[in-house]
Amino acid sequence: MSADRKLYEGKAKILYATDDPEVLVAHFKDDATAFNAAKRGTIVRKGEINCAISTHLFQRLEACGVPTHWLDTPAIDRMHVKAVEIVPLEVVVRNVAAGSLCRQTGITLGTEIDPPLVEFFYKNDELGDPLLTRDRLRLLNLATPEEIDRLRELALTVNRHLSEFFASCEITLVDFKLEFGTTSDSQIVLADEISPDTCRLWDRRESDPERRVMDKDRFRQDLGQVESAYEQVLERVLAQVEASSNAAT
Ligand code: 5GP
Repeated sequence: MSADRKLYEGKAKILYATDDPEVLVAHFKDDATAFNAAKRGTIVRKGEINCAISTHLFQRLEACGVPTHWLDTPAIDRMHVKAVEIVPLEVVVRNVAAGSLCRQTGITLGTEIDPPLVEFFYKNDELGDPLLTRDRLRLLNLATPEEIDRLRELALTVNRHLSEFFASCEITLVDFKLEFGTTSDSQIVLADEISPDTCRLWDRRESDPERRVMDKDRFRQDLGQVESAYEQVLERVLAQVEASSNAAT
């Protein structure tokens, strides 16, 4: 690879070009932001932890037939990913009520949601990432109805696999946000990252509503022990990956 040429810097990652126009490098940063970057900080080792967790989850999803942008992970905090055009939507799946769902509807925190809820938000910081209706999606022409159906189906498939995987780590997958991109050959693939930054993860070994939080809500809500929560998620993911590879051999 020639000298890295920075293409884009986001809140959690920097994207660099490589010699191959179809391949980019995603560098995971330790920077943490919340509330549309109104709150900023650093989570020590977050970049490498999120890169490692995302690597394992993308590999797992690929093995289950979900196409992702992940190619390989050449360094602890860097991934090679397919160059894609990001669909300007955040697709959120919820298994348990938390966050904006509770704030906007009054549903009690922790209420089980079955079947899972799939929501589309407009990925637009200036507008504060608003929730979209089906009609607004059509009005804004952000994706065709067929693409919306495909995103919904992919998001639910990801949810099935990840809920099961996290359950085997004794973690409840409360909710998560996905981003998708379109490759040069018009394939829709899962992009961005899947990590404690983008998922709500509750420790099944803890019943206390604050102690069970293993994700970015610890940073958002100043709950403390942010680093150790992220490390604990990685530790359990790695243990489970190793257990399943031992079982396969
Ligand atoms: P909520 O809508 O409740 O704020 O978020 C739902 C889920 O999506 C949570 O797991 C949250 O972490 C994730 N999420 C939603 N929007 C964003 C975002 O802009 N950035 C990140 N990192 N996660 C988000």
